[in-house]
This record gives sequence, C-alpha cells and structure tokens, in this order.
Amino acid sequence: MPLFHLRTFHGTFLTRRFQKNLQTRRFAASMIDTHCHLYVDNFNEDLEEVALRASDVGVTHILMPAISTASEEQMNTTILQWEGFKTGIHLHKMAGIHPCEWKPGDTLDVNDLTGRVSAKDIIAVGETGLDAYWSTDAMDEQLDSLDAHLSIAKDLQKPVVLHNRETTTELLNEVERQQDGRLKGVWHCFTGSQDEAKRAIDLGLYLGIGGVFTFKKTDTREFVKALPIERLLLETDAPYLAPVPFRGKRNEPSYVAYTAQELADALECSLASLVAQTTQNAISLFGLQEG
Ligand SMILES: [Zn+2]
Repeated sequence: MPLFHLRTFHGTFLTRRFQKNLQTRRFAASMIDTHCHLYVDNFNEDLEEVALRASDVGVTHILMPAISTASEEQMNTTILQWEGFKTGIHLHKMAGIHPCEWKPGDTLDVNDLTGRVSAKDIIAVGETGLDAYWSTDAMDEQLDSLDAHLSIAKDLQKPVVLHNRETTTELLNEVERQQDGRLKGVWHCFTGSQDEAKRAIDLGLYLGIGGVFTFKKTDTREFVKALPIERLLLETDAPYLAPVPFRGKRNEPSYVAYTAQELADALECSLASLVAQTTQNAISLFGLQEG
C-alpha cells in the first residue's frame, strides 16, 4: 500500500479535536515518548510506518527501557534500522532488568549492570521495580534487584525508571529508604491514588502518564489537576497498554498524542501548553537535547 494511503487510514482514527489541532499545526513543542519498547518483535513488520506516524504527530524523542540483558543488542538493531528512515526522531537506550524477569534463586551481576549503565549512550537505569501481579515467587530477588538499580542510579547520577504492579507501598518504602537527595526518576505508567502520587512526588519522582489514563475507569483523571504539572511525563509503554481508541491493540509511539490530548482535557489546558510542559519535564529529568 502506498504510504499516503497508510497515513490517511491512520488519520481516520484521529479524534476530531486532535485532528483539528494537528491541522492547525500544532504544538508549541514536540512530544517525547518517555517509555517505549520499540525494539521488541511486535514492530518487526512495520517499523518504518511506525516511525513516520510518530513523526507526523510531532514525536522527537523515544526512550527505550530495557527488559533484560538481551535488550541492548535488540535496541542497537532497531537504532540502525531507524536511522535509515530519516525522521529525525532520536532513540535513547536504558539498561536494567525488569522485575518480571526474576526467578527464585537468581542473582543480579551488579558489576555487569554498573558497567552497562556507565556507558555514555545509556540515558537511564531501568526498567526496574516490583511486580506482584504475575508472580510473587521471586519477591526477594525483585527487591534485591531494585535496591541495586537504585544504588547504581544514585552513584552514576542517572534517572531510574520504576515499574510497579500491586506493590506500591513496598516500592515507595524502598525509594524512601534510598532517597538521600541523589535519587531521581519516574514511576512509569502511574495508576496509583492521589496520596500515593503525592508521596512519590515528595520523594522526588516524576509520574509517567500513559494509555491507562485514557481508560474509562481511571481515578487519576479525577485528581490529576491537584498534581504539579512539572512532574508529569508522557509515555506509551508500547507495544502494551494502547490508549483509547486503540485499547487492546498494539500500542505505538504516535499514540502518545491521544494521551496528551486526554491529559490536556483533564487539566483544562491547551494541548500546546501541555505538550510544551511535559516535553520540558522529560528534557530536564533525562538531560535530553531540545529538538
Ligand atoms: Zn515498560
């Protein structure tokens, strides 16, 4: 199918309001997808179209959290391919081990992780965190790993990217225990309560707002206005957790625009100012170059 057909096809899904914004071009600044697993197999077939759609909506940076030690090689392959598309969108790598990777008895090679995080092209440590949803068999291992990731993040002065599922209190307790003024990072895919949001922000964390924010039953929309906008980041967590109207489908970086619109509506501000502020937040947390 010729490219313009693909773009038109995609365009028919855009909400009218967003389409209007897109046509009147658009954003005071460009959008940053702060959490996207662009290197997984789900993008093998159509990475170029994914790139062009992201470019169309104004995405300028995509941050890729690692899942395992194998992730970096996959990211490198994606980056090489991506450069050929000439979108100008910058891809960034992280190093870390996802909490769901841990099995009972596993141990983290702290020296190896420290070495990998030290590399100049590694923008952040993650994703790490705790997850009691899929399995609680390796909670001790998850906790040890989280501790090591937090220490490395502090020592190397890089932000940490935190995953949390049904473990909010434990996660925040751990961050509190380690916070000595040097720890900075983001609670990605935030879905907690207002009190938990406040505690995370007081502990120095940013909150990543993704597709879940657009779901019907999301409390976050009710209290997001009470949170400091300077601590909110946009993300997709693609290929997972696609926003409405793509819920249940594969997520991709261009869909960050739908979450941005929903967040702007909830905050009763313009899409342009929401995008400008969240982009600035991502630039300052991750030390990105503008543009
Ligand atoms: Zn993730």
